[in-house]
Amino acid sequence: MKTYKLKISILVLSFIFFWVPVSWASLNVVTTTSDLASIVKEVGGSLVKVESLVKGYQNPHYIQPKPSYMVKMNRADLLIYQGLELEIGWLSTLIEGARNPDLRLGQTGHLDASTGISRLETLESEVDRSMGDIHPSGNPHYNLDPENGFIIAQSIYNKLSELDSENATKYKSNLEKFNSKLEKKIIHWKNLMKPFKGTKIITYHKLWSYFAKRFDLNVVNNVEVKPGVPPTTKHLAKLTALMNREDIKVILQSTYYESDFAKMVAGRTEAIILVLPSFVGGTPETTDYFSLFDTIIQKLTNNLQPST
Ligand SMILES: [Zn+2]
Repeated sequence: MKTYKLKISILVLSFIFFWVPVSWASLNVVTTTSDLASIVKEVGGSLVKVESLVKGYQNPHYIQPKPSYMVKMNRADLLIYQGLELEIGWLSTLIEGARNPDLRLGQTGHLDASTGISRLETLESEVDRSMGDIHPSGNPHYNLDPENGFIIAQSIYNKLSELDSENATKYKSNLEKFNSKLEKKIIHWKNLMKPFKGTKIITYHKLWSYFAKRFDLNVVNNVEVKPGVPPTTKHLAKLTALMNREDIKVILQSTYYESDFAKMVAGRTEAIILVLPSFVGGTPETTDYFSLFDTIIQKLTNNLQPST
């Protein structure tokens, strides 16, 4: 009996060591942000190994291009980044240092996830887009509109099945599962947000434009003078007056920003600061693209005053 069990164990172990790796992780993917990594996991499943360079609790606008990132990129088959110049300060240095020709612009292992996204706050739509604004090509925080999840997932699917056409059917079925789950979730999230339609809010950085548009929140102004530019005393005074005049009760701020300025404004108004994750991994419970919105929406619905 014992020998029999041992033989079974050896058989099982052989499967683990010799069989599993053959069909597991045929593509090695590096993403800049954790939301992209989460969607790659959904579409790629066990066929893909994925790692995000920036953690969800870090500020993706300003990342130190470390040699360890270059090593990861050197071994990767595919680089996926958010684009719209979110990573402009650091990604080209990494691509240069990675010494992996496949990841260069125009090559097969290079994917800009913003392709196909309807951009907000582009040069044409903004009257005051001048020096110091770190969003020159429009707002890059499109991941915070869950409807954009469909577009991102489609681009990822196209790329994975181009690089690994043998497994295209598997990727397709994963994509369909992701889409159908996201569709149901969006209906649920919209229902939860309905009572807060039109609520006026202030945001710290222009991070919530896509989210606000999708869920009918009204971003009246921002604590930063413009994206990436910290507030001046004059701007803070104007903002405080505006919030008191219009009875604005909430300042939204991402986990990775210092809250000193927001606290200053909150102290002179009746507003509260809501610190929210803006990427997967921004807080411990945001383990994937779905729980990111679950968390954001739960925090909002618990703290906003219903408008209807
Ligand atoms: Zn930004």
